[in-house]
Amino acid sequence: MANIKLQNIVKRFGDVVAVKDFNLEIEDKEFVVFLGPSGCGKTTTLRLIAGLEHPDEGEILIDGYLVNGLSPADRDIAFVFQFYALYPHLSVYDNIAFPLKAVKVEKSEIDEQVKKVAKILQIDNVLNRKPSVLSGGEMQRVALGRAMVRQPKVYLLDEPMANLDAKLRIDTRAEIKRLQHEIGATTIFVTHDQVEAMSLADRIAVIHQGVLQQIGTPHDVYNKPENLFVAGFMGMPAMNLLDAEITSHEGKIVLQLSHTTVQLELSQQQQSHLNANTQNNGYVLGIRPEHITASREPAGRKIRADVHLIEPLGSVNILDLMLGTHQDTQEPILLRVRAHPTFLVELRDTIWLDFKNDQMHLFDSKTEQAIW
Ligand code: ATP
Repeated sequence: MANIKLQNIVKRFGDVVAVKDFNLEIEDKEFVVFLGPSGCGKTTTLRLIAGLEHPDEGEILIDGYLVNGLSPADRDIAFVFQFYALYPHLSVYDNIAFPLKAVKVEKSEIDEQVKKVAKILQIDNVLNRKPSVLSGGEMQRVALGRAMVRQPKVYLLDEPMANLDAKLRIDTRAEIKRLQHEIGATTIFVTHDQVEAMSLADRIAVIHQGVLQQIGTPHDVYNKPENLFVAGFMGMPAMNLLDAEITSHEGKIVLQLSHTTVQLELSQQQQSHLNANTQNNGYVLGIRPEHITASREPAGRKIRADVHLIEPLGSVNILDLMLGTHQDTQEPILLRVRAHPTFLVELRDTIWLDFKNDQMHLFDSKTEQAIW
């Protein structure tokens, strides 16, 4: 199969810089997901790899060969778009066979390939039907089948499940993952759905405003965000991000959450990272809702909060808690916490919190980079 290298890629559309100095190396057989909000440059990067767009600067290498000047057809890449364009007048069989017929593969070989792929995708029972009588999920699998039958070096999938319903999305997701393992092809999958990204990827490339923010395993991107954007983008509900200052209390260095009375003690290790970070620009504390425990009694807990909103989600309740009020704007300083549904509280109740110290993240508020 193939590895892909993007070196210092820049792509402009007039004044818009869609891709900015993008560097990424994708290993052979790897499943990489491009994840980011709408307009961040995911599709453009994918189209650059496919050869449907050409970079203004930088180099694209596939298996060590520079492909900048190659047409899409010469790159041996299969591209599945968000809106699967099946030929309506052809049967499912002929839609899947189309790329093989185009390069004049033997009829018996085509037959073997189409049936094999249809079986893997579980569409072997609809081979004689026309696309108009297929369900959305079946159409999607036909589009995937047409890409798979070519056995290309690389698969590029641009939101291939965007128009499937929720259940079909989950089923198709599992199918794509299984298929990718079975075929072992290098795959790049574009989505703005972080759950899809977490469940599919070997590595996730988080992109924002044309810039690659972080590339890492789902575990690393979720648990070790390198900057404020990644921290705030990954996770549902999102990580709590609270302005903070470093101060001392009774001879100890503590993190004071701005506009609140909350002071958090820091471990030796956390303090030493702080000392190394000489640019004291102000800080942002990051803590995920699942890393805060709540109790109705203080019982040693020092953080007091008032219940502002309760969102029951069935298996979990999301509590919006008020820690204080912004001195200038009078806006409440809110914190979201995941609580078990048996933890019964009402609006305006006072509860007590504990932050898991080893799950706290600290960011420099100016550079937005993680300190720890
Ligand atoms: P989405 O998730 O909405 O598909 P995306 O992350 O895939 O978004 P791109 O489609 O790559 O984002 O677009 C990146 C930026 O480049 C956007 O600002 C978009 O408007 C701009 N852009 C993309 N293609 C063109 C084009 N052909 N002409 C002008 N601007 C373009």
